[in-house]
Amino acid sequence: MSDGKHPTRKSSDPTPNGARAKLRAYFLAHVGEVADAYTLRAVAGGITEWARRVRELRQDEGWDIRTDKHDSRLKPGQYMLASDKPRPTFAGTMSKETRAYVLDRNGFTCQMCGAGAGEPHPSDPSLKTRLHIGHIVDLSNGGTNARENLRALCSVCNEGAQNATLNKPDSAWLLSQIRRAGGLEQIDVLKWLIRKYPDRVRGLLTELDDRESAGVK
Ligand SMILES: [Zn+2]
Repeated sequence: MSDGKHPTRKSSDPTPNGARAKLRAYFLAHVGEVADAYTLRAVAGGITEWARRVRELRQDEGWDIRTDKHDSRLKPGQYMLASDKPRPTFAGTMSKETRAYVLDRNGFTCQMCGAGAGEPHPSDPSLKTRLHIGHIVDLSNGGTNARENLRALCSVCNEGAQNATLNKPDSAWLLSQIRRAGGLEQIDVLKWLIRKYPDRVRGLLTELDDRESAGVK
């Protein structure tokens, strides 16, 4: 099963001679050249998932494959491998402990869209959510690999993360949405919060009890 040609890479490519390997070979033979979607699809054997394989090359293997999102010289639908050296990566060098720590801290949930690991993705229910570890402040903007600067991101958000700003929903907006929801959904939210913050819940209940016995409403 293991891909002996790339011993330093933890390959999740199920077939060493599959679409991802073909795309990798193509890009490496055309460094600095622009390839369009039509070509890449053909290279990948015409499969519809070719774009996902390209993302894996970028995200999981560290190849600097650019699109119009990363490089203003490119047009939508164009791709270019900028260097024949994979970036000193991160996904490849991060310890299992760090990965587990960040995922646990983030509740195994994408910190941008809220998708849970292994669950159907909100933007495409046919897609099972895969979480990656990403930087909060990008390395190119002076961010570091320290745990405090890492967060869990699903592949969908990770892909768009370079341009997207991190807009976390604020509590006023969240409360407005919860008020609109049905009772069963509200109870689901309550359960989720209780499970997530058991100690806080106990503290808050005690606080409420104290207030009531002090006659404060
Ligand atoms: Zn996401």
